[in-house]
Amino acid sequence: TGDMGTGPMEKVLADIHGAFQSHTSGSVASYIPELATADPDLFGLAVTTMDGLHYQVGDSQVPFTIQSVSKPFVYALALRDRGTDDVLARVGVEPTGDAFNAITLEPGSGRPLNPMVNAGAILTSSLVLGSDTEERFTRILDGLSSFAGRRLTVNERVFTSERGTGDRNRAIGFLMRGAGALRGSVDEICDVYFRQCSVEVTAADLAVMAGTLAHGGVNPRTGERVLDEEHVNHVLTVMVTCGMYDRAGTWLFRVGLPAKSGVAGGVCAVLPGQLGIGVFSPPLDEVGNSVRGVRACEMLASRFALHLLAPQ
Ligand code: GLU
Repeated sequence: TGDMGTGPMEKVLADIHGAFQSHTSGSVASYIPELATADPDLFGLAVTTMDGLHYQVGDSQVPFTIQSVSKPFVYALALRDRGTDDVLARVGVEPTGDAFNAITLEPGSGRPLNPMVNAGAILTSSLVLGSDTEERFTRILDGLSSFAGRRLTVNERVFTSERGTGDRNRAIGFLMRGAGALRGSVDEICDVYFRQCSVEVTAADLAVMAGTLAHGGVNPRTGERVLDEEHVNHVLTVMVTCGMYDRAGTWLFRVGLPAKSGVAGGVCAVLPGQLGIGVFSPPLDEVGNSVRGVRACEMLASRFALHLLAPQ
C-alpha cells in the first residue's frame, strides 16, 4: 500500500479530505461502550483500482472494527459454502425500512428479511461451514482476510464489549430459532457474529475488499479468486437495496453504487469493473451511517461521474 500516484485520483482524494475534515456533525456510536471511545476527528479514504493501484489519504491506515461492513462479505462466504438456492431459502432479499437491529421476521417462516439487517446477518453467519463455533469463525476470518489481501485480526476488547451488551441480538436469535429458521445454539452463533463484527480493518482494507467485489471476485492486489462471479452479483444486489441502513434510497439517488456501512464509521462502495472505495470516520448520522463517509462518497461519485445509472 501507499503507492500514491500524482494523477487526478490523488488530487480528488486530497480535495475531499480537505473539504470534510473540519466537519464536526454526527456522533460516535455509544451503545457498545468500547465504540464510544473512538476519536471523532479520524478520517481516512482509500481507493483500489482493478490493476491493483491503491490511492489513500488521511487516516487510511488506522484500524477500526468492521461491524456491519462484514455482512455482505460473510453473505458472500455463505453463498460460496452453501450455494445460492440454500442461502435464499434461509435468508430473504427484501429491503426493510426498519432499523438494523429491528426484530422483524417474515411472518410464519421466521425467515429474516435480508442479510444486511442483524437478524439476517446472524442467520447468515450460521450458514458458513464449520463443525464447531471455532472452525466456523476461523473460516469467516480467513475469508475476510482473503477479501482484504492481508491477515486480519479480532479486537478482543470490542468483542467482549459487544458480547456483554448483545442481548437484543440474542433475542433476535431466539425468535428465529423458535420459528425454526435458525438452527444450533443461539449463544454460540451470536458469539461468531460478535467476533465477526469485531474484526479490525482500515479504510485501505475496505477499498481492497470492495475492489475484490468490483473485480468479479478476484482480489486485485493478490490475484486470489475469493468468490465466483455469480455470487458477486448476488452480494452487490443486496448492497444496493439494503446496504446503507434506512438511507438506501437516498444513497442510491446521490451516489449510485452498491455499498455497506458499519457503526464504527466504516463505509465501502463498489464500482463494478472499475474500483473499490473505503472510508473511515467515526461520527454517525441519525440512521448510523458515517457522516464524512457519506459526504466523501457523494463527492467522489460526482467528481468522476460514478453513478451506475447515469446516462453513458
Ligand atoms: N455489532 C453491531 C450490532 O449488531 C453491528 C452493528 C452495525 O454495524 O450495524 O449491534
